[in-house]
Amino acid sequence: MSDDCIFCSIIAGDIPGRIVAETDDAVAFLDANPMSRGHTLVIPKAHRERVADLSRAESRAVFDLVHELTPRIEAAVDADAHTVGINDGPDAGQEVPHAHVHIIPRFEGDGGGPIHVAAGERPDVSDEELDEIAAAVAE
Ligand code: AMP
Repeated sequence: MSDDCIFCSIIAGDIPGRIVAETDDAVAFLDANPMSRGHTLVIPKAHRERVADLSRAESRAVFDLVHELTPRIEAAVDADAHTVGINDGPDAGQEVPHAHVHIIPRFEGDGGGPIHVAAGERPDVSDEELDEIAAAVAE
């Protein structure tokens, strides 16, 4: 727990949160400034800033809750689909430095786009460079 973390404060009950599910290692609550009806955040209970900071058990606990909640959220708000995503780091748009998965219900004709728009303009990457990147990641 971090004293100056807003999400840790929600877990501790020090500030209000609309908690919709809780397990030993993860908790989910409604986003206070939702992108759509039912927008939910799933977080590890432990204060972890980035995805890579989570232990395997914490990572599983968070995604298990994402898996459990998506159909429940879909039923609750009559959604047609979801965008599930993580802003992992300030340069990716992360504002709250406690790792969290966004579950954003999507509706036919809602005017939104696919997650691809998040990365800006597509780079022109050659086959050779794709091979090099794949090798570097696989190493
Ligand atoms: P991110 O930009 O990925 O860090 O997203 C942070 C999210 O946290 C935003 O969608 C905010 O609306 C949401 N948020 C910030 N403060 C609270 C709060 N007290 N309760 C619920 N959601 C919050």
